[in-house]
Amino acid sequence: MEVVEGIEPLRRRLDAERRVGRTVGLVPTMGSLHAGHRSLLDAARRENDVVVATLFVNPTQFGPGEDFAGYPRDLAGDRAVLEAAGTDVLFLPSVAAMYPDGPERQSIWIEPGSLAAHLCGTSRPGHFRGVTTVVAKLLNMVEPDHLYLGQKDAQQAAILARMVRDLGFPVTVRILPTVREQDGLAISSRNAYLSPGERAQAPALRHALLRAREMVAGGERDVRCLIAAVEGTIAEEAPEARIEYISVVDGATLQPLDRVEGDVLIALAVYLGTARLIDNIEVSA
Ligand code: AMP
Repeated sequence: MEVVEGIEPLRRRLDAERRVGRTVGLVPTMGSLHAGHRSLLDAARRENDVVVATLFVNPTQFGPGEDFAGYPRDLAGDRAVLEAAGTDVLFLPSVAAMYPDGPERQSIWIEPGSLAAHLCGTSRPGHFRGVTTVVAKLLNMVEPDHLYLGQKDAQQAAILARMVRDLGFPVTVRILPTVREQDGLAISSRNAYLSPGERAQAPALRHALLRAREMVAGGERDVRCLIAAVEGTIAEEAPEARIEYISVVDGATLQPLDRVEGDVLIALAVYLGTARLIDNIEVSA
Protein backbone atom coordinates (compact mmCIF):
# COMPACT_ATOMS: atom_id res chain seq x y z
CA MET A 1 0.00 0.00 0.00
CA GLU A 2 1.30 3.41 -0.96
CA VAL A 3 0.71 6.25 1.49
CA VAL A 4 0.23 9.59 -0.27
CA GLU A 5 -0.05 12.89 1.58
CA GLY A 6 -0.07 15.48 -1.20
CA ILE A 7 -2.77 16.17 -3.78
CA GLU A 8 -0.35 16.40 -6.74
CA PRO A 9 1.34 13.03 -6.06
CA LEU A 10 -2.13 11.51 -5.64
CA ARG A 11 -3.27 12.86 -9.02
CA ARG A 12 -0.07 11.67 -10.75
CA ARG A 13 -0.45 8.19 -9.34
CA LEU A 14 -4.15 7.87 -10.23
CA ASP A 15 -3.80 9.51 -13.67
CA ALA A 16 -1.30 6.80 -14.54
CA GLU A 17 -3.83 4.13 -13.52
CA ARG A 18 -6.67 5.72 -15.45
CA ARG A 19 -4.54 6.11 -18.61
CA VAL A 20 -4.27 2.34 -18.84
CA GLY A 21 -8.02 1.95 -18.29
CA ARG A 22 -8.00 0.88 -14.66
CA THR A 23 -11.05 1.68 -12.52
CA VAL A 24 -10.78 3.40 -9.14
CA GLY A 25 -12.91 2.87 -6.01
CA LEU A 26 -12.91 5.47 -3.21
CA VAL A 27 -13.61 4.70 0.47
CA PRO A 28 -13.59 7.93 2.52
CA THR A 29 -13.09 7.44 6.26
CA MET A 30 -12.13 9.29 9.41
CA GLY A 31 -9.96 6.38 10.51
CA SER A 32 -10.19 4.27 13.67
CA LEU A 33 -11.15 1.57 11.21
CA HIS A 34 -13.40 -1.36 12.10
CA ALA A 35 -15.44 -4.10 10.44
CA GLY A 36 -17.90 -1.53 9.02
CA HIS A 37 -15.14 0.22 7.11
CA ARG A 38 -13.73 -3.17 6.17
CA SER A 39 -16.96 -4.14 4.39
CA LEU A 40 -16.70 -0.97 2.26
CA LEU A 41 -13.05 -1.73 1.50
CA ASP A 42 -13.91 -5.33 0.57
CA ALA A 43 -16.65 -4.17 -1.81
CA ALA A 44 -14.26 -1.65 -3.36
CA ARG A 45 -11.62 -4.38 -3.74
CA ARG A 46 -14.10 -6.67 -5.52
CA GLU A 47 -15.39 -4.02 -7.89
CA ASN A 48 -12.33 -1.94 -8.88
CA ASP A 49 -8.78 -2.31 -10.14
CA VAL A 50 -7.46 0.32 -7.72
CA VAL A 51 -8.74 0.91 -4.17
CA VAL A 52 -8.13 4.32 -2.62
CA ALA A 53 -8.96 4.86 1.05
CA THR A 54 -8.82 8.31 2.55
CA LEU A 55 -8.25 9.00 6.22
CA PHE A 56 -9.11 12.54 7.22
CA VAL A 57 -10.78 13.70 10.42
CA ASN A 58 -12.61 16.60 8.81
CA PRO A 59 -12.76 19.59 11.17
CA THR A 60 -15.66 21.29 9.37
CA GLN A 61 -18.12 18.50 10.11
CA PHE A 62 -17.64 18.79 13.88
CA GLY A 63 -19.57 21.44 15.76
CA PRO A 64 -18.25 23.45 18.71
CA GLY A 65 -18.18 21.17 21.75
CA GLU A 66 -18.22 18.00 19.62
CA ASP A 67 -15.45 15.39 19.77
CA PHE A 68 -13.06 16.63 17.04
CA ALA A 69 -10.01 16.85 19.32
CA GLY A 70 -10.82 13.59 21.11
CA TYR A 71 -11.97 11.63 18.04
CA PRO A 72 -10.26 8.21 18.26
CA ARG A 73 -7.09 8.15 16.12
CA ASP A 74 -5.04 5.00 15.47
CA LEU A 75 -2.89 5.28 12.35
CA ALA A 76 -0.88 2.09 12.99
CA GLY A 77 -4.06 0.02 13.49
CA ASP A 78 -5.67 1.66 10.46
CA ARG A 79 -2.71 0.84 8.24
CA ALA A 80 -2.95 -2.81 9.26
CA VAL A 81 -6.69 -2.94 8.42
CA LEU A 82 -6.10 -1.23 5.07
CA GLU A 83 -3.19 -3.52 4.15
CA ALA A 84 -5.23 -6.62 5.08
CA ALA A 85 -8.08 -5.40 2.85
CA GLY A 86 -5.74 -5.02 -0.13
CA THR A 87 -5.95 -1.23 -0.32
CA ASP A 88 -3.65 0.19 -3.00
CA VAL A 89 -3.43 3.83 -1.95
CA LEU A 90 -3.99 5.50 1.41
CA PHE A 91 -4.56 9.21 0.94
CA LEU A 92 -3.67 10.97 4.18
CA PRO A 93 -4.05 14.69 3.55
CA SER A 94 -3.26 17.43 6.06
CA VAL A 95 -5.88 20.00 7.09
CA ALA A 96 -3.83 22.57 5.15
CA ALA A 97 -4.02 20.47 1.98
CA MET A 98 -7.80 20.11 2.26
CA TYR A 99 -8.44 23.69 3.39
CA PRO A 100 -5.75 25.92 1.82
CA ASP A 101 -6.96 29.06 3.65
CA GLY A 102 -7.86 27.18 6.84
CA PRO A 103 -11.21 25.51 7.62
CA GLU A 104 -12.82 28.69 8.96
CA ARG A 105 -11.78 30.79 5.99
CA GLN A 106 -13.16 28.54 3.28
CA SER A 107 -15.59 30.65 1.26
CA ILE A 108 -17.45 28.19 -0.96
CA TRP A 109 -19.54 25.41 0.57
CA ILE A 110 -21.96 22.80 -0.74
CA GLU A 111 -25.31 23.29 1.01
CA PRO A 112 -27.27 20.06 1.52
CA GLY A 113 -30.62 21.87 1.70
CA SER A 114 -33.79 20.24 3.02
CA LEU A 115 -32.17 16.79 3.29
CA ALA A 116 -30.24 18.15 6.27
CA ALA A 117 -33.25 19.81 7.92
CA HIS A 118 -34.20 16.86 10.16
CA LEU A 119 -32.64 13.87 11.94
CA CYS A 120 -28.98 14.61 12.75
CA GLY A 121 -29.16 17.92 10.88
CA THR A 122 -31.24 19.43 13.70
CA SER A 123 -28.75 18.88 16.49
CA ARG A 124 -25.62 19.20 14.34
CA PRO A 125 -26.03 22.43 12.37
CA GLY A 126 -23.38 22.71 9.67
CA HIS A 127 -22.38 19.06 10.02
CA PHE A 128 -23.67 17.91 6.64
CA ARG A 129 -22.35 21.02 4.89
CA GLY A 130 -18.92 19.97 6.16
CA VAL A 131 -19.49 16.42 4.91
CA THR A 132 -20.70 17.40 1.42
CA THR A 133 -17.90 19.91 1.00
CA VAL A 134 -15.11 17.54 2.04
CA VAL A 135 -16.47 14.65 -0.02
CA ALA A 136 -16.78 16.92 -3.07
CA LYS A 137 -13.12 17.83 -2.60
CA LEU A 138 -12.16 14.15 -2.32
CA LEU A 139 -14.17 13.30 -5.47
CA ASN A 140 -12.33 16.06 -7.35
CA MET A 141 -8.94 14.85 -6.09
CA VAL A 142 -9.45 11.11 -6.59
CA GLU A 143 -11.92 11.12 -9.53
CA PRO A 144 -13.14 7.62 -8.63
CA ASP A 145 -15.48 5.42 -10.67
CA HIS A 146 -17.22 4.20 -7.49
CA LEU A 147 -17.78 5.86 -4.12
CA TYR A 148 -18.43 3.54 -1.12
CA LEU A 149 -20.64 4.66 1.78
CA GLY A 150 -22.31 2.92 4.73
CA GLN A 151 -26.04 2.76 5.43
CA LYS A 152 -25.11 3.17 9.11
CA ASP A 153 -24.96 6.91 8.35
CA ALA A 154 -28.18 6.85 6.34
CA GLN A 155 -28.70 10.62 6.20
CA GLN A 156 -25.11 11.17 5.11
CA ALA A 157 -25.43 8.51 2.38
CA ALA A 158 -28.71 10.00 1.11
CA ILE A 159 -27.24 13.52 1.04
CA LEU A 160 -24.07 12.43 -0.76
CA ALA A 161 -26.01 10.36 -3.32
CA ARG A 162 -28.15 13.42 -3.97
CA MET A 163 -25.09 15.68 -4.24
CA VAL A 164 -23.60 13.36 -6.86
CA ARG A 165 -26.86 13.48 -8.84
CA ASP A 166 -27.56 17.20 -8.45
CA LEU A 167 -24.01 18.30 -9.25
CA GLY A 168 -23.29 15.65 -11.89
CA PHE A 169 -20.21 14.06 -10.35
CA PRO A 170 -19.14 11.25 -12.72
CA VAL A 171 -19.18 8.56 -10.03
CA THR A 172 -21.47 5.68 -9.06
CA VAL A 173 -22.47 5.65 -5.40
CA ARG A 174 -22.54 2.28 -3.64
CA ILE A 175 -24.27 2.16 -0.25
CA LEU A 176 -23.39 -0.92 1.83
CA PRO A 177 -25.47 -2.42 4.70
CA THR A 178 -24.65 -1.63 8.32
CA VAL A 179 -22.19 -4.05 9.90
CA ARG A 180 -23.17 -5.02 13.45
CA GLU A 181 -21.75 -6.68 16.53
CA GLN A 182 -23.24 -10.10 17.29
CA ASP A 183 -25.76 -8.55 19.67
CA GLY A 184 -26.97 -6.12 17.01
CA LEU A 185 -25.15 -2.94 18.01
CA ALA A 186 -24.06 -1.04 14.88
CA ILE A 187 -20.27 -0.95 14.84
CA SER A 188 -18.93 2.59 15.26
CA SER A 189 -15.65 4.22 16.19
CA ARG A 190 -17.62 6.01 18.93
CA ASN A 191 -18.55 2.71 20.63
CA ALA A 192 -15.10 3.02 22.23
CA TYR A 193 -16.58 5.75 24.46
CA LEU A 194 -19.04 3.28 26.09
CA SER A 195 -18.42 2.00 29.62
CA PRO A 196 -19.13 -1.75 30.10
CA GLY A 197 -22.50 -0.90 31.69
CA GLU A 198 -23.46 1.38 28.80
CA ARG A 199 -22.23 -1.16 26.27
CA ALA A 200 -24.56 -3.75 27.80
CA GLN A 201 -27.53 -1.43 27.23
CA ALA A 202 -26.58 -0.36 23.69
CA PRO A 203 -28.27 -3.25 21.78
CA ALA A 204 -31.58 -1.70 22.87
CA LEU A 205 -31.36 0.63 19.86
CA ARG A 206 -31.39 -2.27 17.42
CA HIS A 207 -34.09 -4.11 19.35
CA ALA A 208 -36.29 -1.01 19.29
CA LEU A 209 -35.88 -0.56 15.53
CA LEU A 210 -36.60 -4.24 14.87
CA ARG A 211 -39.73 -3.96 16.97
CA ALA A 212 -40.87 -0.98 14.88
CA ARG A 213 -40.25 -2.93 11.69
CA GLU A 214 -42.31 -5.85 13.03
CA MET A 215 -45.13 -3.47 13.88
CA VAL A 216 -45.10 -2.10 10.32
CA ALA A 217 -45.09 -5.66 8.95
CA GLY A 218 -48.09 -6.32 11.20
CA GLY A 219 -49.99 -3.40 9.65
CA GLU A 220 -49.16 -0.46 11.95
CA ARG A 221 -48.99 2.77 9.94
CA ASP A 222 -49.30 5.44 12.64
CA VAL A 223 -45.90 7.07 13.18
CA ARG A 224 -46.77 8.22 16.72
CA CYS A 225 -47.42 4.59 17.75
CA LEU A 226 -44.15 3.47 16.21
CA ILE A 227 -42.15 6.18 17.94
CA ALA A 228 -43.81 5.40 21.27
CA ALA A 229 -42.89 1.71 20.86
CA VAL A 230 -39.27 2.55 20.04
CA GLU A 231 -39.11 4.87 23.06
CA GLY A 232 -40.67 2.17 25.25
CA THR A 233 -38.13 -0.48 24.23
CA ILE A 234 -35.23 1.87 24.81
CA ALA A 235 -36.55 2.98 28.21
CA GLU A 236 -36.96 -0.64 29.23
CA GLU A 237 -33.65 -2.03 27.99
CA ALA A 238 -31.40 1.02 28.28
CA PRO A 239 -32.51 3.02 31.33
CA GLU A 240 -29.44 5.29 31.11
CA ALA A 241 -30.12 6.24 27.48
CA ARG A 242 -30.96 9.85 26.64
CA ILE A 243 -32.91 10.02 23.40
CA GLU A 244 -31.94 12.85 21.05
CA TYR A 245 -34.45 11.92 18.36
CA ILE A 246 -36.51 9.08 17.00
CA SER A 247 -37.86 9.94 13.55
CA VAL A 248 -39.82 8.29 10.81
CA VAL A 249 -39.01 9.96 7.50
CA ASP A 250 -39.55 9.44 3.79
CA GLY A 251 -36.65 7.34 2.52
CA ALA A 252 -35.91 9.65 -0.40
CA THR A 253 -36.66 13.17 0.88
CA LEU A 254 -35.88 12.54 4.58
CA GLN A 255 -38.92 14.61 5.55
CA PRO A 256 -40.94 13.52 8.64
CA LEU A 257 -44.10 11.49 8.06
CA ASP A 258 -47.33 11.02 10.00
CA ARG A 259 -48.08 7.69 8.37
CA VAL A 260 -45.88 4.96 7.00
CA GLU A 261 -46.26 4.79 3.23
CA GLY A 262 -43.77 3.63 0.60
CA ASP A 263 -40.07 3.40 1.45
CA VAL A 264 -39.52 4.79 4.91
CA LEU A 265 -36.49 5.25 7.16
CA ILE A 266 -36.82 4.93 10.92
CA ALA A 267 -33.76 6.59 12.45
CA LEU A 268 -32.60 7.50 15.92
CA ALA A 269 -29.80 9.14 17.84
CA VAL A 270 -29.30 8.25 21.50
CA TYR A 271 -26.71 9.22 24.06
CA LEU A 272 -25.31 6.58 26.39
CA GLY A 273 -22.88 8.38 28.66
CA THR A 274 -20.78 10.58 26.38
CA ALA A 275 -21.28 8.35 23.33
CA ARG A 276 -23.76 9.59 20.75
CA LEU A 277 -25.02 6.49 18.96
CA ILE A 278 -27.05 6.47 15.75
CA ASP A 279 -28.88 3.67 14.00
CA ASN A 280 -31.64 3.22 11.47
CA ILE A 281 -33.80 0.67 9.70
CA GLU A 282 -35.53 0.77 6.32
CA VAL A 283 -39.16 -0.36 6.10
CA SER A 284 -41.63 -0.49 3.24
CA ALA A 285 -45.41 -0.39 3.27
P1 AMP B 1 -16.47 7.30 9.36
O1 AMP B 1 -15.03 6.90 9.43
O2 AMP B 1 -17.22 7.08 10.62
O3 AMP B 1 -16.65 8.67 8.75
O4 AMP B 1 -17.15 6.30 8.33
C1 AMP B 1 -16.64 6.10 7.04
C2 AMP B 1 -17.61 5.29 6.23
O5 AMP B 1 -17.83 4.02 6.85
C3 AMP B 1 -19.00 5.95 6.12
O6 AMP B 1 -19.49 5.78 4.80
C4 AMP B 1 -19.80 5.19 7.13
O7 AMP B 1 -21.19 5.17 6.84
C5 AMP B 1 -19.21 3.81 7.00
N1 AMP B 1 -19.48 3.02 8.20
C6 AMP B 1 -19.21 3.36 9.50
N2 AMP B 1 -19.67 2.41 10.33
C7 AMP B 1 -20.24 1.45 9.56
C8 AMP B 1 -20.90 0.20 9.83
N3 AMP B 1 -21.06 -0.25 11.07
N4 AMP B 1 -21.38 -0.51 8.78
C9 AMP B 1 -21.23 -0.06 7.51
N5 AMP B 1 -20.61 1.09 7.19
C10 AMP B 1 -20.13 1.84 8.19
